[in-house]
Amino acid sequence: MLSKRIQTLSPSLTIAIATLARELKAEGKDVISFSAGEPDFDTPVAVKDAAKASLDAGHTKYTAVPGTPELLQAVADKLKRENGLTYATNQIQTNNGAKHSLFNLFQALIDDGDEVIIPAPYWVTYPELVKYAGGTSVVIDTDDSTEFKITAKQLKTAITAKTKMLILTSPSNPTGAVYSEDELKSLAEVLKGTEVLVASDEMYEKLVFGDTKFVAAASISKDMFQRTITINGLSKSAAMTGWRFGYMASAHTELIAVMNKLQSQSTSNINSITQDAAIVGLNGTIDAEVEAMRVAFEARCQEATDLFNAVDGLSVVKPNGAFYLFVNIKEVSNDSMQFCKDLLEDQGVAVVPGVGFGSEGYFRFSYATDLETIKAGIKRIEAFVQKLKA
Ligand code: PMP
Ligand code: GLU
Repeated sequence: MLSKRIQTLSPSLTIAIATLARELKAEGKDVISFSAGEPDFDTPVAVKDAAKASLDAGHTKYTAVPGTPELLQAVADKLKRENGLTYATNQIQTNNGAKHSLFNLFQALIDDGDEVIIPAPYWVTYPELVKYAGGTSVVIDTDDSTEFKITAKQLKTAITAKTKMLILTSPSNPTGAVYSEDELKSLAEVLKGTEVLVASDEMYEKLVFGDTKFVAAASISKDMFQRTITINGLSKSAAMTGWRFGYMASAHTELIAVMNKLQSQSTSNINSITQDAAIVGLNGTIDAEVEAMRVAFEARCQEATDLFNAVDGLSVVKPNGAFYLFVNIKEVSNDSMQFCKDLLEDQGVAVVPGVGFGSEGYFRFSYATDLETIKAGIKRIEAFVQKLKA
């Protein structure tokens, strides 16, 4: 009965584990979850107020498929002001979360047999959506020795005549790695003269630490601007996961036009109230709240990194952004799925196995929760690792 295509699709492992942890908690089990990639903060008040005003103004009808003119202008203004990128409003589409942006993008670009280069560890969704569109993922492996970043040489080796696209995620889910301007330039140099497009997932743009500077891939050069599709949203930076708001922008107006055609036949416009609220999320009104969340994440990152590195048998590279640690467990386990299952059973701690992100020998720890919980969780993980080492 079911299509072959749907039968090859795997469910999101991050969502599966977060759901399992929630269910165990509901059964009364003492479970601490570090599995979900979701800020623990509430959505800023100004965004909520904009949603209430939107309802009161009766903005409850269909809108234009890619978004209202006001929202598209707010996205264009944001990209200009914060990233130095000039996009016209017909070069932008808004979506039901950035996951939906990726879905539309891959459906619009990938033909059967096209290759998509994905650096590992990768966010679980990329290879599944590539496969669903008929494409083949070509994975470039990285590890903690290069802070989980690919090199120009690796990229060059991975490109073939079939390569359609490279997916770049900076800051990265699941490692928190951030590409510097120079690193992006060296990747851009490899792409020059090729037809390879870049899907630049900039979801964690606002969450960078220390003197790390976020650089948008499309801002590297004119050549990169032409080949890059910029993808972003408010889920992580503005604590708006449930609102479902993402967007993408491309210099290729015709690409946005065909994705509007696809969206007109699938979801139509995104929620009209979310659109009004997103304008406030994008236009600088909530900068102070976003910065306060970033500062909290940075403190948690430092604390959690130090605590993990003090555990005999575990190690972690301190990331420069996002809200994840990708913890190395190779000294105690070569089966991250088993490690995570046993950890949940033994200590009631939920983390996501590295194998789900394409890298065996690690787990992902989301520190998007309060410091006390982080400390308590790492203590339990330490107790579990001590047992493994005993
Ligand atoms: N890209 C990355 C790198 C993510 O981590 C996520 C969600 N965790 C998304 C995109 C999708 O976000 P959204 O909730 O807006 O669909
Ligand atoms: N993307 C977030 C994560 O990595 C949320 C879950 C999901 O969308 O897969 O945990």
